[in-house]
Amino acid sequence: MMDFDPLTQADDLGPAKVVHITERRTGLLAVVVIDNVAAGPAIGGVRMASDMTTAVCFRLARAMTLKNAMAGLRHGGAKAGIVADPRMPADGKEQLIRAFAASIRDLTDYIPGPDMGTNESAMAMVLDEIGRAVGLPPELGGLPLDELGATGFGVAESAEVAAPRLGIDLVGARVVVQGYGAVGRHAARFLVGKGAVLVAASDSRGGVVAPAGLDLDSLDGIKGRGGSVTECQGDVTIVDRDDVFAVECDMLIPAAGPDAIRADNVEEVKTRLILQGANIPITAEAEARLHQRGIMNLPDFVVNAGGVICGAVEYAHGSRSQAFQLIADTVGGNVEAVLDRCLESGDRPREVAMAMARSRVHQAMKARRWI
Ligand code: NAD
Repeated sequence: MMDFDPLTQADDLGPAKVVHITERRTGLLAVVVIDNVAAGPAIGGVRMASDMTTAVCFRLARAMTLKNAMAGLRHGGAKAGIVADPRMPADGKEQLIRAFAASIRDLTDYIPGPDMGTNESAMAMVLDEIGRAVGLPPELGGLPLDELGATGFGVAESAEVAAPRLGIDLVGARVVVQGYGAVGRHAARFLVGKGAVLVAASDSRGGVVAPAGLDLDSLDGIKGRGGSVTECQGDVTIVDRDDVFAVECDMLIPAAGPDAIRADNVEEVKTRLILQGANIPITAEAEARLHQRGIMNLPDFVVNAGGVICGAVEYAHGSRSQAFQLIADTVGGNVEAVLDRCLESGDRPREVAMAMARSRVHQAMKARRWI
């Protein structure tokens, strides 16, 4: 698990703490990376995965530092990893989650949230053990972000701000969503609500293309009963899941997983604007190529911050409407600032946004007299 040495690999931002946990009694093997807490206690998900490593945990924690800083939250960035198969029997999983929670009781500058392999029930267990967690069930004061569509809402708000600056009319704009899950389907719903047309969508089992527009109610019905977008009926064409990247559109939303657009398929992409709903859905090489091709590609930690903003509002005992207002203001404002600088300088959006986020963390560190 130790493939990252904080003593030699730390930089100006962090990590502040790297904690490894091994517990014989429960078999718990975990790592917590608290990257930077200048802005406040760090929020970051607890990921349960068999292949979790310290290096991956550090990269994810750093991404949270930048995302939280970009979102203007009074929280730093962190991440935790429990090395285990998330599909294990429920009682064993509960024992591990509770053991993990107990072992981070004194790491009070870390606020755990849900991530891959954990969910709101797991966060209820963490809260029960140590009294702090975000991403809680509604009956414990949680704002159920995937049900509300907080991240998809931020993606759609980003599109609304970006479209006029790029000469795209949102009414009638053709949208493609890769990964019609929690993020993708809500982004589609909010965008269609603004007049856009969903012309293609995919999930892990395949894709569907409909130039005249897909019926979202029917898609949601299919997905709600565990089906695939490929079960769509009517005037549609069923395709392989990666074929949706080649569908000509005005906006493409990769919302499935990492490295979906790579050197080997980047030339197929025929769009004007990419909104990264997933985390790192495009490799660095492919991002460079998209920039050369003049495709505006707004990075993950700018446009998909709706989820963590919702978590921060929940932590501060705020309401759903406060969360949505803050997402619209913050994510929309950031997209405007990043795009204006990119259009003026010709620089890449990720570089521009990264510089803005790093500068905000440095400001917070200066305010604390750490630098
Ligand atoms: P999800 O599991 O609800 O949805 C993912 C969807 O992608 C599913 O429909 C799945 O079938 C599909 N999919 C998986 N592999 C695919 C492939 N190769 N091609 C096409 N579709 C594929 O997950 P989610 O919560 O929507 O998260 C999606 C991504 O966004 C993840 O990378 C996640 O880390 C990131 N993210 C999520 C949130 C959030 O609020 N949920 C916030 C920020 C970032």
